[in-house]
Amino acid sequence: MQREQSLHSLGLRTLEDISSIILHSHDLQETLDNIVTIVAKRMGSEVCSIYLLEEDGETLVLKATKGLSRSAVGKITMQTSEGLSGLVVQTRGMVMTDNAPAHPRYKYFKASKEERYLSFLGLPLFERKTPIGVIVVQTVAARIFTEDEISILRTITFQISSIVLNARLLDSIQTREQERAFFEQELARLKTSRPGDAGYDQSERKPEALTLPGTAVSPGFSHGKVYILDRFSDKVIKVAKVDTVEVELHRLQIALEKVTIQTIYMEKRVSELLSEDDASIFHTHLMILEDRGFVKKVTDLIEQGVGATRAVHEVVQGYIEVFSTMEDPYLRERSADMEDIGRRIIDVLEGNERDGVKLKEKRIIVAEDIFPSDMAMLDHDKILGIVTEKGNIYSHAAIMAKSLGIPAVLGVKGLLQAANVKDKMIVDGTSGSVYLNPDKHIRDEYLRLEKEYACRLKELEPLRDLPTVTTDGVRILLKANIGLLSDIRTATANGAEGVGLYRTEFPYMARTCFPNRQDQAALYRKILEGFPGLPVNIRTLDIGGDKGLSYFSYPHEDNPFLGWRSIRVSLDEQEIFREQLAGILLASPAGQATIMFPLISCLDEVRTIRSILNSVIEELRQQGCEVPDSLPFGIMVEVPAAVQIVDLLAKEVDYLSIGTNDLIQYLLAADRNNPKVKSYYEPYHPAVLHAIKRVADVGLKMGKKVSVCGEMAADPLNALLLVGMGIREFSLSAPGIPLVKQAIRTHSLRLCQAMARKVLSLDSGSDIKRYLAKRRKELFGEG
Ligand code: PEP
Ligand code: MG
Repeated sequence: MQREQSLHSLGLRTLEDISSIILHSHDLQETLDNIVTIVAKRMGSEVCSIYLLEEDGETLVLKATKGLSRSAVGKITMQTSEGLSGLVVQTRGMVMTDNAPAHPRYKYFKASKEERYLSFLGLPLFERKTPIGVIVVQTVAARIFTEDEISILRTITFQISSIVLNARLLDSIQTREQERAFFEQELARLKTSRPGDAGYDQSERKPEALTLPGTAVSPGFSHGKVYILDRFSDKVIKVAKVDTVEVELHRLQIALEKVTIQTIYMEKRVSELLSEDDASIFHTHLMILEDRGFVKKVTDLIEQGVGATRAVHEVVQGYIEVFSTMEDPYLRERSADMEDIGRRIIDVLEGNERDGVKLKEKRIIVAEDIFPSDMAMLDHDKILGIVTEKGNIYSHAAIMAKSLGIPAVLGVKGLLQAANVKDKMIVDGTSGSVYLNPDKHIRDEYLRLEKEYACRLKELEPLRDLPTVTTDGVRILLKANIGLLSDIRTATANGAEGVGLYRTEFPYMARTCFPNRQDQAALYRKILEGFPGLPVNIRTLDIGGDKGLSYFSYPHEDNPFLGWRSIRVSLDEQEIFREQLAGILLASPAGQATIMFPLISCLDEVRTIRSILNSVIEELRQQGCEVPDSLPFGIMVEVPAAVQIVDLLAKEVDYLSIGTNDLIQYLLAADRNNPKVKSYYEPYHPAVLHAIKRVADVGLKMGKKVSVCGEMAADPLNALLLVGMGIREFSLSAPGIPLVKQAIRTHSLRLCQAMARKVLSLDSGSDIKRYLAKRRKELFGEG
């Protein structure tokens, strides 16, 4: 026990040291040198070395060592077909021996003077799926490393891989010819342009009243000042006064220091909001801020007489352009990091109060687009509303806004052209309208509506702890769809009876590399503990389609929603999948976990998943971990094929959950995110309703629970209709729960069934819509 504890604290101390090294090192060499020193010290080994693969992917070069001759750094090279380190790369796995010289793959390198070392432990470093190097620990005495020591080293490899990648990226960008040409061109342009040129300042225009239509995606009203979450657009860059070179250089230095502190702060905040490791994305930002090449470029421009603000802007734009033309999606994604940093440095230089994702006061967020990772990082308590140019009801930003109970209107054309940093705005997330600098009578009208809406929510409050039962006594379960730790609070506040869908991809999105099993377990444990005594249905990674991970490369696909996504990625990348299953299993004793698999289209997938799950359980047990024999096993029914064979699938699983968001798009061949085909994406299409009915009937016949976890169920009338079809459990964005509960508690099953029978007897979507509109008016008095 004592040993376990000391190993645990050893792991933590080592990780803390490494995090601090990453924060304080200025370049890759310094970072690697510091890492090998600390790892050797903490592991009690005489040697720790890092070898990196050259671009040919076949030559390993010793890049840093503690213990071997330092003069060998850069000199020892080997092919991956040679030596024990080469074997690590070839097998892409751990190599461990307590008698290295006797190993058939042992190769002696004279320059290293390593003949004294008997034990060898090597682990690969990966950049996404590709090996990029090896970390090796060696000891003089013959020694077998323990599971805990291996696990600590494995965690370190994740961090090293990410910093190597980022450092290489920064190096490579500096050497690109394209970039140099860009700067020469830009410099010439800068010398001839003057502050005040078109495109530099629009902030002085008079506020103008304007009404803009968009798509209502998350109900409610709000009004307040806007916060333009710009993508480094020219319009927010104020014309800066240029002082002497000395003053401008000093201003730059202060701004860089402030932004570094901000970044460290953000890292802390995100780690509190999500998990410690989720905050690792900010390591990239710190590396850019401390990168000598970046700082030198800005300084050079300042020395040529360009003010600090414009110098930062130009340099960052140069980087963005280079990044965004890159083929590799991971590298392209780095332009967002540059944008973010550039925006924050300029904010500080110009005394703008905006400091990154930390809002000083409540604001309406206005942006071209909001990605799930933006949502993960924003200060949710300070967001009055969300308005974007792109996106629609089925975007993940919309789903998350709903889950947080923030009024949102997406797909507002011309928004960024019209909005200005000084504008005030009203967001009507119920009707989908946005009012810029509204006149007094509109403001008054909305204040009245806002009050009414708040009263209505207050009225629903007492419902929170009451069960959801129809007037004729049928019990319905209302659970929450969640994605972030902060959703726990919203779900609990709205009386969710557990979690019907935990989307695990959101925490993955805020990171720079795949989390290991321990980090995942720690996060899942927090989620499970957030719902004591209530079930939490954890869905495995559902990436691809509209949900990408910046650090994971996908092949280019013409039809990504019909391509390599979701469970297909997990089954092809079993290391990642096994790591997630292990994380879920390790966390499961902390609550009532169930496990669900997305995008299932055939029986073979279910069988393969089950055998992988069993083998992970076996592996964990052999390692002495306390994990259950099995977990309730569910699948999502969201592909038409799964509806067709739902009776066969139901035999092999414990429960089914209908994902209407995807099921509708696949049944009707209408992209859930494409506004052009919005009218084809029709929840009331008979094909959709009959498909749901079929799944509900099979579930009932075979005694398997069926829930609906798509957004469709968040509409109270739809919920009644689905109850009438036999659905007894829903999972929806938590703020929608009280209204659905109220609707169910005030109507009978008989009424729901009559409505379902009628709807299923109608032939066309338009007839169904007409009928339901009439019913909506009768039941809820809404038009
Ligand atoms: C669905 O497809 O309905 C669903 C709930 O999953 P997601 O929206 O995460 O694809
Ligand atoms: Mg889905």
